[in-house]
Amino acid sequence: MGEKPKIVVLGAGYSGMMTIIGLQKQLQYNEAEVILVNQHPYHYFTTKLHEPAAGTRHHEAARVLIEQVIDPRKVTFIQDKVKGIRPQDKQVDLVNREEPLTYDYLVIGLGSAPETFGIRGLKENAFFIRNIDSVRMIREHIEYMFAKYRNEEQRDEYITIVVGGAGFTGVEFVGELVDRMPSLCREFDIPREKVRLISIEAAPTVLPGFDPELVQYAVKYLEEQGVEFRINTPIEQCDEDGVTLKGGEEIKAATVVWTGGVRGNRLIEEAGFETMRGRVKVDEYLRAPGYEEVFIIGDCSLVFNDEGRPYPPTAQIASQQGSKVAKNLISLLRGGEMQPFRFDLKGTLASLGRHNAIGVIGKRKVFGSTASFLKRANDLRWLYILGGVPLVLRKGFI
Ligand code: FAD
Ligand code: NAD
Repeated sequence: MGEKPKIVVLGAGYSGMMTIIGLQKQLQYNEAEVILVNQHPYHYFTTKLHEPAAGTRHHEAARVLIEQVIDPRKVTFIQDKVKGIRPQDKQVDLVNREEPLTYDYLVIGLGSAPETFGIRGLKENAFFIRNIDSVRMIREHIEYMFAKYRNEEQRDEYITIVVGGAGFTGVEFVGELVDRMPSLCREFDIPREKVRLISIEAAPTVLPGFDPELVQYAVKYLEEQGVEFRINTPIEQCDEDGVTLKGGEEIKAATVVWTGGVRGNRLIEEAGFETMRGRVKVDEYLRAPGYEEVFIIGDCSLVFNDEGRPYPPTAQIASQQGSKVAKNLISLLRGGEMQPFRFDLKGTLASLGRHNAIGVIGKRKVFGSTASFLKRANDLRWLYILGGVPLVLRKGFI
């Protein structure tokens, strides 16, 4: 290790940003060289992407420029795309740099990618709620299809939207679509009852594994708003005309949005780490097996609870991991001991549009406007962590 240890953080998502914020708060100047690499100049709030996807909120409300959050005296930001990680050589290859980045410590927080389970035609024909660019496409595509319905032969599939997978992402997106429909229909002179919003779920229930009473509340509310749920019916194929369900039924839809699950970023397995669905089973300090200097956090990591079941990948666990890695890195730099990571589940909240939500906080179930308020407060809390009151005021009320 040289005079000044070099820490490289890959990805400016929840896990990466939390690592950076922890490091820049606690590190003295010149104690370490810290480099953050991210493909965009901004950090986006993955947890809010369903809003710009449906068009209920502008995408500016779901992102913040990285330069407005980092302290340039302590952190160097490189806007570039990681193309490869070589842990044996302690090097990272970037798309726009000939020279690889070297490191003493590496923190990988490169997030997830859609899991398509090899379903035919999905990659080519469906949309994905992934990042700012992908949700802009969804919004514009829906609007274009509504315009097409008016301008050309009025084909029902133009105004049929299929959402594949009714996990949290699917349900939150459908909730936003419900909110968007009245203004969209007015804008394009289309009667609301003509539009079909269809949520398709392979499991026997919407939001499998979540509290049944809250699931029932969500389904009832969304059905009252005109959403059609098809449970127990996996999508088996997707083409340019729509989807085919198990059993052969075809649903014609010009817009298919896939929210059927995620896997870790492919760069992780390409780097040679052992993975399960692209996620690395990390040790108690969140390090990759065999590499004491490589920390893997967020959606790329796999952490098990006391019953031996993996925690689902969430922003909540990602940000707690980032915070722990920052503390442990500081300890390592100062010759101290690392502390093991333990996830502290604060609760789960899922929005059903802008004014409704469901959730569990501790042992308490919440729904309706209370849950919606708590969800909103949680979003504001993240803005506060990133940029204090000024960022809350600038982004929190767009
Ligand atoms: P991300 O936040 O996805 O960040 C990864 C970063 O890496 C991104 O900035 C990306 O651009 C960058 N990156 C990726 N590849 C490269 C590359 N090759 N080169 C350079 N940079 C790269 N979780 C909750 O706890 N609560 C919620 O309410 C919630 N709501 C959600 C709503 C939606 C619609 C979705 C899709 C997810 C939601 N989640 C929620 C899950 C949560 O968003 C993720 O678990 C969380 O974002 C994971 O954080 P991360 O740091 O691992 O990755
Ligand atoms: P998920 O894996 O949680 O849900 C995907 C859903 O798609 C599942 O219900 C699955 O049964 C269904 N599915 C899979 N294959 C299918 C098929 N062929 N046809 C129809 N349905 C199919 O994925 P997600 O909803 O994208 O969530 C990803 C992660 O992000 C999860 O850990 C989730 O907890 C987290 N998240 C949290 C929130 C929140 O806390 N508010 C919101 C969004 C996402």
